[in-house]
Amino acid sequence: AKRSGGGQFRFFAPAMLRGMEERRTLEADLVRALRQGEFVLYYQPQIDLRDGHVNGYEALLRWQHPVRGLIPPDLFIPLAEETGLIVPIGDWVLGEACREAATWCAGTAGGVLPKVAVNLSARQVAGDALPITVARALAASGLEAGRLELEITESALLEDGDAARILAGLRELGISIALDDFGTGFASLSTLRRFPFSKIKVDRSFVRDMATSPEARAIVQGVSELAQRLGMVTTAEGLETTALVEMARELGCNEGQGYYFGRPAPVARLHASAATICAT
Ligand code: C2E
Ligand code: CA
Ligand code: CA
Ligand code: CA
Repeated sequence: AKRSGGGQFRFFAPAMLRGMEERRTLEADLVRALRQGEFVLYYQPQIDLRDGHVNGYEALLRWQHPVRGLIPPDLFIPLAEETGLIVPIGDWVLGEACREAATWCAGTAGGVLPKVAVNLSARQVAGDALPITVARALAASGLEAGRLELEITESALLEDGDAARILAGLRELGISIALDDFGTGFASLSTLRRFPFSKIKVDRSFVRDMATSPEARAIVQGVSELAQRLGMVTTAEGLETTALVEMARELGCNEGQGYYFGRPAPVARLHASAATICAT
């Protein structure tokens, strides 16, 4: 084998070993990132499609890497899930999102402050610790339970039988639960019956197809009607154009999210009409 820089046999190592080495480096990097505060949250507005008000913001994790720059979640969350690091990382996200949201003061005309929506991974939903973690994040930040929304995908719910009971407990506290990426999983209808969702987020793949596919439009309309009958709100994800926004509204979606309304941005760069920080 040939030596590469640093005396390592990198270049000629079998691909799999090289992969493992990279994974270990990334894993160690993630631990360091958490300790040294390299994670940041970006926020994307969720807009009421009737009146254009900001109902809330979804917190989206980013890694401000000292060398590699800003890293999107798709590049490190899968490994964080595999290694279990997603649990401490997710705890940080929850705490940070509640802390930041507690400082927002600009609300709608009616004085309603925007919610903050936090993504949960399967591991966070599966453990018994979730209610405690959530209660702690609320207590430490002073955020009202009514301003917190938890986003959960169907695949995260398939893994655990206790999830329904845990989520029902959270809802009793006033926390909202959103079913994320709806339409990408399976067993969707039984999921809607088993879990106490307040909101269904229709996946971007359906939303995008509304422009060209009558079937996609029929599905979005059907989901909105079903949601309404079940007492849930519908959010269309990934709205990028005026035409899609109009369609989502006409098909009965209550809320929209997407680049049309705003890309995810750090709190400091959020739209002026939106979450302004009062104190500090
Ligand atoms: P998601 O929960 O479905 O989040 C929506 C993703 O779609 C975000 O990508 C957002 O930037 C992107 N998006 C929003 N509007 C548009 C649009 O109009 N067009 C297009 N093309 N994309 C749009 P992002 O921030 O890269 O996050 C990717 C995924 O990473 C998220 O998908 C979520 O599953 C996961 N994720 C992000 N933050 C967290 C976190 O704190 N915890 C966990 N467990 N997962 C997270
Ligand atoms: Ca989400
Ligand atoms: Ca989603
Ligand atoms: Ca997604």
